[in-house]
Amino acid sequence: MEKLKVTNLKKSYGDLEVLKSIDLQVKEREVVCLIGPSGSGKSTLLRCLNMLEEVTGGEVIVNDVKLTDKSTNINKVRENIGMVFQHFNLFPNLNILDNITLAPVELKKATKEQAQETALKLLDRVGLKDKAKVNPSKLSGGQKQRVAIARALAMNPDIMLFDEPTSALDPEMVGEVLAVIKQLAQEGMTMVIVTHEMGFAKEVADRVIFMDNGYIVEQGSPQEIFGNPQNERTKDFLNKVL
Ligand code: ADP
Ligand code: MG
Repeated sequence: MEKLKVTNLKKSYGDLEVLKSIDLQVKEREVVCLIGPSGSGKSTLLRCLNMLEEVTGGEVIVNDVKLTDKSTNINKVRENIGMVFQHFNLFPNLNILDNITLAPVELKKATKEQAQETALKLLDRVGLKDKAKVNPSKLSGGQKQRVAIARALAMNPDIMLFDEPTSALDPEMVGEVLAVIKQLAQEGMTMVIVTHEMGFAKEVADRVIFMDNGYIVEQGSPQEIFGNPQNERTKDFLNKVL
């Protein structure tokens, strides 16, 4: 079953055409890694998938609901799409537990007690149960990102979007965050992950998509894309980063 279907998606900022005609389908339980040079439109595409950006044209369908329809309640759909950003975006004035329980309680997905119980389980899962009561400023980058993942999971999403979740981290913290994402992949979470970690993409992706200049240039299995890329731009990019 398709969880996500994007057809002829276009996005411009003024005269700047950032996404030119994107077609993308993601199946349930599929893990898709998006790679490509800086400025190619990866973040914009990800943000269009949950309408954090208003699209210029085309369609985005999530779980058979057309997000690009004016009548669709975007907030309702968004509750099922977890997003994790490069810079964590934790609420600095709330402790870790409150960071995680805020949305489920506000959006009436759970009572405060239920939300806290779930949050503690999620914190345990990302190895941070002892940090429930501390402030985000007391955590390392890797710990903050694991909290951000737990916070996204607290809404019980069925799709997770990651935008370069490790690129703001010191190298020694990359592994602990990738391990959490890898575990989610093994548990069958549907995910779209923008990443510069080619080794990780090779290991975790069912499909790798190479974007350049607002287009999907090439896609295939990790073996195909990393082992036998067909397009010159893909080859050129991989030569630079591998
Ligand atoms: P990537 O994530 O692949 O590095 P982005 O999607 O962030 O690429 O950006 C693609 C292009 O869109 C870049 O040229 C960037 O400067 C431009 N862009 C992104 N966001 C905005 C915005 N809010 N306003 C204007 N231009 C933007
Ligand atoms: Mg980006």
